[in-house]
Amino acid sequence: MHSLDDLIREAERAHGHLCAGQVLGVRLAMLGLAKLGIEDPRGKDRKRLVTFVEIDRCATDAIGVVTGCRLGKRALKFRDWGKMAATFVDLGPQPRPPGSDHWYNAIRIAAKESSKKLAREMHPEIENKNQQQMQAYREMKDEDLFSTQWVKVELPAEEFPGYKGDRIVCAQCGEGVNFRREVERAGRVLCRACAGERYYKVL
Ligand SMILES: [Zn+2]
Ligand SMILES: [Zn+2]
Repeated sequence: MHSLDDLIREAERAHGHLCAGQVLGVRLAMLGLAKLGIEDPRGKDRKRLVTFVEIDRCATDAIGVVTGCRLGKRALKFRDWGKMAATFVDLGPQPRPPGSDHWYNAIRIAAKESSKKLAREMHPEIENKNQQQMQAYREMKDEDLFSTQWVKVELPAEEFPGYKGDRIVCAQCGEGVNFRREVERAGRVLCRACAGERYYKVL
């Protein structure tokens, strides 16, 4: 595994600036990988990991850098819960035999609410909050910065990065739908927009 400093530098480049979120995200991801015993997430272990993030903020970019999990590779899953937390799912070294369940061991790591206050206590001499947290988050013990819990995550076949399945065509709008994201309404197979989950209004 790369050093904290190396990874922070790399995260800074990818994210566009250095901020407390980069330090926090790098540390969070490093802890997750260490707990799972994954040493080379972007090399030999790259097919072993799927990461769920629960917020779209600075730290999310850093988690992507450290783990190598990206949205476009389907290895980064976004759950928009507004929480500074991520779950690292260990897919294991081997594909599972057909018929086995789809629950995988994972570690969920959340930043502690108390870490901001602790940062103030550790570095009262640094006035700028971002600088203060950046410094403190480098130094803080894992257990002061994060809470961790072992969990299981269900990951059916269509959630896997390399999933190859049929694309269906929505019976209403005619657009293609991948990865079994279609829904059935009154006997018709629809995309989620046509089924009523639209996040946009057509002008
Ligand atoms: Zn940032
Ligand atoms: Zn549709």
